[in-house]
Formats: sequence, C-alpha cells, structure tokens
Amino acid sequence: MSSRIAYTKPSITELEIRYATDAATKGWGDHCYDYIHRFEATFKEHLGVMYAMATSSCTGALHMGMAALGIGPGDEVILADTNWIATASPIVHLGATPIFVDILPDTWCLDPAQVEAAVTPRTKAIVAVHLYGNLCDMDRLLDIGARHGIPVIEDAAEAIGSVYRGQHAGSMGTFGAFSFHGTKTLTTGEGGMFVTNDSALFERVLTLSNHGRARGQTKQFWPDMVGYKYKMSNIQAAIGCGQMERIDELINRKRAILRTYKQRFQGVSAIQMNPESEHAVNGAWMPTLVFSPNSGITREKMQAAFARENVDARVFFWPLSSIPMFQPVPANIHAWSIPGRAINLPSYHDICAEDIDRVVKVVEGLLP
Ligand SMILES: *Cc1c(COP(=O)(O)O)cnc(C)c1O
Repeated sequence: MSSRIAYTKPSITELEIRYATDAATKGWGDHCYDYIHRFEATFKEHLGVMYAMATSSCTGALHMGMAALGIGPGDEVILADTNWIATASPIVHLGATPIFVDILPDTWCLDPAQVEAAVTPRTKAIVAVHLYGNLCDMDRLLDIGARHGIPVIEDAAEAIGSVYRGQHAGSMGTFGAFSFHGTKTLTTGEGGMFVTNDSALFERVLTLSNHGRARGQTKQFWPDMVGYKYKMSNIQAAIGCGQMERIDELINRKRAILRTYKQRFQGVSAIQMNPESEHAVNGAWMPTLVFSPNSGITREKMQAAFARENVDARVFFWPLSSIPMFQPVPANIHAWSIPGRAINLPSYHDICAEDIDRVVKVVEGLLP
C-alpha cells in the first residue's frame, strides 16, 4: 500500500529547534518570560493589535475573555451551529447558554440575519468563528453588536493569515482568540493567544490569568479574586518565536495548497471549496470540499474512498446542536446538511505535488 498522507502536521525547522533548545537550556530564573514576551510582541505586530497574551490554548483564551466580559448564569451567547466544541464549552463552563444559529451556504460562517433574529435581552455576546480560514461577514456582525450593545468575539483559531478589508481576523472584535495546537497553521504544540485593543478588558484578563493576582498587588501569594491558570510556557513560546519568523512562509504555503486544489477541481460544478471574496484574504487553514446535494456524493462514500487510498481526510464539523449535550436545532438547515456531503483535504505545509495528485485522484474517482 502507498504511504499514508496525513491531513495536518506542523512545519518545524532548525530555527524552532534552536530556540526551544535555548529556552530549555537558559530560559529559567530571570529569563523564564523572555520568549513569551517576544512571542507576544511579534504576534501583536503581525496582527496590528495593542494587547496580546500567550495562553495554554485557544479554549483557555476564550474562557478567560468571556469571564472578563462578565458572561455567567442566565446569559446567552450566539454562535454558529457549525463549530468545534472548544468555542461552546467555555460558555457552558461559565453557566451561560450557547444559542446555535445557522451558517451561510457559501462561507460556512455565521449568518448575520440569523444572529439578528436570535438576539434577546439575555444575549451577552456573539462569537464569530472564521471557519477553516473563511471569513465571517464582520461588517454586519459588528453592526448588529453595536446596535444592540453586544460584544462580538472572534474565534480566529483557524484564521491566522485571513484578512478582512485590510484587517486581520482576530483584530476586529472586542477580543480575539487563536490556537497553536499541532494541527493549526502556526504551532507551539499546544497553545493560544488572547488579543484585544481594550486596555481595561486586557487588564481584567491579565489578573484572571494569574490566579486572580492583580498586577499592582504587592503582597506575595495574595489573589484578589478566584482566577484561572491558562499560561504558555517559555519553551512553547520559543517554538512560537521561530514560527513567527516564518509566518509569511507558513501562510503562503497553506494558500498555495488551497489554490492548487481549487485549480484541479475548477471545472467540476458539483464541487464548492473555501471562498475568497475580493475584499478578503483566506488564510486557507483547511481546504474543504462540499458537494452539491444532487451530486449523490456523500461523506461516507468519500471517507471510504480516502481510507482505501491511505489518505487521512477528515469530516466537516458536525452541527454542535446534533450532539447529545445540546438541544437539537435541525432548522439550521445548512449546518445540518453540508457535513453529509463534505470533507477536509490534507494540507500540511510539506505535502508534495505527487501526494496532492493522489488526493485529487481519489476525488476524481468518485465523479460520474
Ligand atoms: C482548534 C480550535 C479551537 C481550540 O483550540 P485549542 O488551542 O485546542 O483550545 C477553538 N476554536 C476553533 C474554531 C478551533 O478550530
């Protein structure tokens, strides 16, 4: 059998290895924050935001940010039904209720009209997830947020490299959260980033992130409130610093892989892939194929064909409202219909042209 094609894996060079080794060798004592501060500074600059804090995960960044916004029992948070559960679990942990609304059929992101219809007096936030690098309609979402006085949070875990009308994904909302999990475009193994332009919000998150110890507190071991512990280590940040020096290369390679797939499937009218409108740049984290409903090509057929050829292709996110912990909302027709005829294609940076060709041939084999 031919060798296995992974769906993602990190791109790690001598640079990341050198920095990580340096952090493990010398990054202790007075130097235990050096790479963390450098990573935060370079990330902030890349994104064009005022404040950034490295965290242990995107989930942790979302949890602290939502806590700092005061989200709690009785509150509702609106998000797309199509999502990884990481976006919803902090809402549940805070005692609030996730309200799942439908996605748009072309971007697979939050439908602003559905968001507007779901706003109630209890709505405490809207979470915009830029799915697979595709961009939410931020103009309309920010307008809805402003009119109702509701913060718009950006989960940009999948959207490093995505740009909307000149602004980076994650930099437009009340706060943004990123993931550096091993499957993401930029990795630190596990890790994340909280970003904002709101100094008061940043100060609250800073306190929460340090087990509730405020920055000005001079008393040792004296928490001012019950907080969280979602920090990144200096060794992880060292890997992140190496990745940031290569950020344009990492993003451009992802975009090139998506472009290649799109070119190969250009003539197939039954196939839709990640869109890129004229006012946006798609960071292309995850090239995804969606077949038209009348094509007869299902997720199960695709999974079987890819498994036969030893290719690790992954399913499109299940609607969160279809999993047992939540109330089903089958009225979210796109979120419930698209996954049954969609698949994520392999897209790690080092994938070679021959392997992309193998992936394309699997799909072609399914076409009539
Ligand atoms: C990966 C991902 C997360 C979670 O990131 P972690 O760093 O694993 O916590 C959250 N939201 C989205 C949209 C993701 O893709």
